[in-house]
Amino acid sequence: MLAYTYIRQGEFRLLDKPKPILQDAHDAIVRVTLGSICTSDLHIKHGSVPRAVPGITVGHEMVGVVEQVGSAVTRVRPGDRVTVNVETFCGECFFCKHGYVNNCTDPDGGWALGCRIDGGQAEYVRVPHANQGLDRIPDGVTDEQALFVGDVLATGFWAARISDITPEDTVLIIGAGPTGICTLLCVMLKHPKRIIVCEKSAGRRAFVQAHYPDVLLTDPETCAEFVRAHSDHGGADVVLEVAGADDTFHLAWECARPNATVTVVALYDRPQVLPLPDMYGKNLTFKTGGVDGCDCAEILRLIAEGRIDTTPLITHRYPLSRIEEAYRLFESKADGVMKVAVYEG
Ligand SMILES: [Zn+2]
Ligand SMILES: [Zn+2]
Repeated sequence: MLAYTYIRQGEFRLLDKPKPILQDAHDAIVRVTLGSICTSDLHIKHGSVPRAVPGITVGHEMVGVVEQVGSAVTRVRPGDRVTVNVETFCGECFFCKHGYVNNCTDPDGGWALGCRIDGGQAEYVRVPHANQGLDRIPDGVTDEQALFVGDVLATGFWAARISDITPEDTVLIIGAGPTGICTLLCVMLKHPKRIIVCEKSAGRRAFVQAHYPDVLLTDPETCAEFVRAHSDHGGADVVLEVAGADDTFHLAWECARPNATVTVVALYDRPQVLPLPDMYGKNLTFKTGGVDGCDCAEILRLIAEGRIDTTPLITHRYPLSRIEEAYRLFESKADGVMKVAVYEG
């Protein structure tokens, strides 16, 4: 089968590999019907994910059809259409029992697919702990509607959930890339008083304006002043930092009002500094990511009810055989690309 593979730093290649087989009673084999490319795949390519294993098939955003299940898999059956969770988790350990599945202590726990074990930019993928890692897609929900449930949308949903948003709040979201938009969609479900999105790309600001006209827009240069002018207590009540740059990390705490919650969703390329003397007395609460991706069934329900729609994010489509072109486009951010859907073929 075709499998897009991490060769070494700076190089991915489309290889012919054997189809995966069941290795454990909790495994499932899924035929990938639609996948996508995530910024984290680029982080692997550029060497900023040290735990990524050369030789693995990359890709951790996908939906598909269950082909085969191990004897301990009870929640899905062959033929079921499913979303695949970016995280592998056992469901049994201390962290899983508390919903902190990102920190599952199983050897395959956390972000393993497409990083430490073979992922889904391929025709088939083996999913360990399939009772936790797969969710059935409701009838009437298409592959494209469900494509982001296991990764970027799970991230947005988790970020909104842990940020304690109330109807009185002014919420600032920094970054309107795919994860920022997914975060925005999930913040909107909490109905805060006001949502401000800060984004440096004029094209992405236009995307937000076109699809979500009630959202206030600003850019990093004017963000601090804009937020002060458009919030009730001198700054945002909740800030979600989804952009992942040095200046946006700074903006996140700068634009927060005293006693605000700052949720850092972004994955940075390098360490960030918290200048505590400058922040003294602001009494901020920081929450930081990786996603605990254990709400996929609820997210699928919200999609089926028409309350979350991420399909506008799919701006381009390629067959797996042309995935290198898809990467080139995604990486260059050309042609207004937000997300690329990679289909069988
Ligand atoms: Zn991802
Ligand atoms: Zn666990």
